[in-house]
Amino acid sequence: MSAPVYIPAPELREIARELQAAPTTGWRLWHIDLDRIEFVREVTCRPTRDAGQCIVVQPPVRAVLQARGADCSHVIVVYGYHAEGKSRNWLKALVYHELRHIGYDGRLIDHGVEDWPDVLAVCGVNWREAKDVPDVTGAGNARKP
Ligand SMILES: [Zn+2]
Repeated sequence: MSAPVYIPAPELREIARELQAAPTTGWRLWHIDLDRIEFVREVTCRPTRDAGQCIVVQPPVRAVLQARGADCSHVIVVYGYHAEGKSRNWLKALVYHELRHIGYDGRLIDHGVEDWPDVLAVCGVNWREAKDVPDVTGAGNARKP
């Protein structure tokens, strides 16, 4: 199988900024400096177990980046195998899921068995298999009578 190919995905940072600005999700993300997070997409759509991944940039690599005038604490990867054909709200739920892995000290934290409870509450248990999901920030979702 061919090697994975990753391309920068600035549109995912835009989504992350929306999540950080929304009252419903932003309070869980305020500690994250989005200028130090890089977002990439895997574009060959080779099968992967996970839809996304949050990776800590380790100190030696981070030092090299800083020496070159760049700084990056984490890389968030979205895998095309799962993301292809999905809605923007789906990507938003995934980006939120991955950002929530970043703890206050920058280390990764883990959720329960399946997911973060607030993601499940808005998007449902099987949201990763759905093509579209409600907006995880709650904005624009139709109210049920
Ligand atoms: Zn996770």
